[in-house]
Amino acid sequence: MKTVTTLEELFQARSELPSPVGLVPTMGFLHEGHLILMRQAKQTCASVVVSIFVNPTQFGPGEDLESYPRDIEHDLALLEHLGVDLVWLPTPEVMYPPNYQTWVEVSDVTQPLEGSFRPGHFRGVTTVVSKLFNAVRPDVAVFGQKDAQQVAVVKQMTRDLSYPIKIDVVPIVREGDGLALSSRNTYLKKPQRKAATVLYKSLRKAEAAYLEGERRADAIRRIMTDTIAEEPLASVQYVSCADLDTLQELEMITSKALLSMAVYVGQTRLIDNWILQP
Ligand code: AMP
Repeated sequence: MKTVTTLEELFQARSELPSPVGLVPTMGFLHEGHLILMRQAKQTCASVVVSIFVNPTQFGPGEDLESYPRDIEHDLALLEHLGVDLVWLPTPEVMYPPNYQTWVEVSDVTQPLEGSFRPGHFRGVTTVVSKLFNAVRPDVAVFGQKDAQQVAVVKQMTRDLSYPIKIDVVPIVREGDGLALSSRNTYLKKPQRKAATVLYKSLRKAEAAYLEGERRADAIRRIMTDTIAEEPLASVQYVSCADLDTLQELEMITSKALLSMAVYVGQTRLIDNWILQP
């Protein structure tokens, strides 16, 4: 496994990789939810590139950029064990050199949900993902369904900017009690960790109602809100029952719907989602 930092090193190492090349972009502090993306890439590609970069431009003021968990040594050991070919660890200066001026923005699909509570977040995401695509030139890029809106936004950008890259999406990896794996779960103290299962609980309750025939999106949203309200350590930022492609809120569920939410457990903001199949 090769580890590189500068663009020159990356271009050299990339040119030596057999095709097809798969890319897995991450912010590090790797867990099983990341590793499954790399296994997926290994299955379909001859070479796998992983990037680890805590991208400052996708964090808003007051968000956890400084405290975001980092453990590069451990990450590299996991990646080596997995048989990843190339790891790119750009510094902020490599990604955003002095006098940096160029941004990639996707319009409609970035507006609701995460976009409405984290202004500028997706501009940071699409800019950095587009820079990763340009530098690595992968044939396939693998993302997790955990960040459902990110998947929709990246797919839109890939189409709109004509990137010849296949976007693969991997289902959410969860703990035994349903909590979606996330680097941010390390922020949770013991009682909060227990309370955090309420996100999954609310998704399952909503799905159960759907399977019993409930099709009113409002009623589905209320089930999720009410379930979360029963957990004193949790407070809802948003719950959504939206069209899976446009992410616009639904009145009636008539096609694939995305249930999603952002919930604070203490100071920690957690997201989760579930797809309702017709
Ligand atoms: P991050 O390091 O949080 O930026 O995540 C890097 C990639 O891993 C993104 O595509 C995430 O959606 C994906 N990911 C993170 N957690 C999970 C999980 N629990 N299950 C599936 N994919 C995940």
